[in-house]
Amino acid sequence: MPPLISYDNGIAIEGLEFPLDASRTADFAYVSHAHFDHARKHGRILATAETALLYRQRFPNVPTRVLPLGRPVKFGDATVELFSSGHMLGAAQILVEIKKTRIVYTGDFKVYSNLTCPPMETRRCDILIMESTYGDPSYSFPPQNEVYTRIIGFVKRVLADRNIPVLIGYAMGKSQEAVMLLQQHGFAVCVDTPISKMNQLYRAAGVKLQSTSHYLHTSLENKVVVVSPQTMRQDEFRQLKRKKSLFLSGWSAGVKKGFTVGADAGLPLSDHADYTQLLSYIQECNPRKIYTLHGEARFAELLCDLGYDAEYLTKGFRSDQVKASVTASRESSMSLPAANDSTIGQNYELF
Ligand SMILES: [Zn+2]
Repeated sequence: MPPLISYDNGIAIEGLEFPLDASRTADFAYVSHAHFDHARKHGRILATAETALLYRQRFPNVPTRVLPLGRPVKFGDATVELFSSGHMLGAAQILVEIKKTRIVYTGDFKVYSNLTCPPMETRRCDILIMESTYGDPSYSFPPQNEVYTRIIGFVKRVLADRNIPVLIGYAMGKSQEAVMLLQQHGFAVCVDTPISKMNQLYRAAGVKLQSTSHYLHTSLENKVVVVSPQTMRQDEFRQLKRKKSLFLSGWSAGVKKGFTVGADAGLPLSDHADYTQLLSYIQECNPRKIYTLHGEARFAELLCDLGYDAEYLTKGFRSDQVKASVTASRESSMSLPAANDSTIGQNYELF
């Protein structure tokens, strides 16, 4: 019998002494990466050194057990290994081997390479617990180099028109990739306060990001501004003249094409896998059982249609209980963050 898996305060695996990405305070928990919806305050955490660095900015007094990537460690009867998820600096997947069963929990993951962290890896496993943020066929991202080219093309066009190019991305992760891309193409960059703080932490972790001024405290002549979505609501930003903005997020592809949080345009530079990449990822892991979360039930249904044994996790789930009727959940459909920016930074990460 495989170990019992349950989903309430994060993922719990029978025999493993800590939950994975617990959503409420736990004595000891594994934190897959530092985005706020995965990194809650706990008594003690297990994480990579980079995630611990970012996590301690919010919770400075939480003791951390640091585990490097690719180094299996025993926890009681379980062997645990962290390996890169490519999602952002420090982000890791976890392989738990217990009761002769290999279980992978992905956290958030990105298949395309990321300019600020090691590339995603895969591990063969028996049970795969995976995110499915873009688990709908309408989410198909162009090749990432094409997205990079289009971002740089946008910046050049706006500068040629003597306007101010503004890239909008989530303050932790996405913005650092945007800054890195811009500096690789020789552009000077200025940012808002949340991104500046994150840039400093990335530099402290060894990521070679250029130093950046605050966009309100420097000449914007021939510079590119990178801000987080929250800054778009601020009066100082709104009053900035001659700006042309580009929202960088996977949400700008898919069923709600043009979802831009009020920016002039959007491009799908994402920190996640698109639908096809989710499927190829599964093929590489070759699991006999798949649990999905962080997305909609529809992805698990699509997997079942493709012949996989897949189930969407809802709170209160236990693997020893009878599988819920698929028919009932087929009513669900993709729900996206509303264009109304009241959801920004609250219920959704904007990638
Ligand atoms: Zn994340």
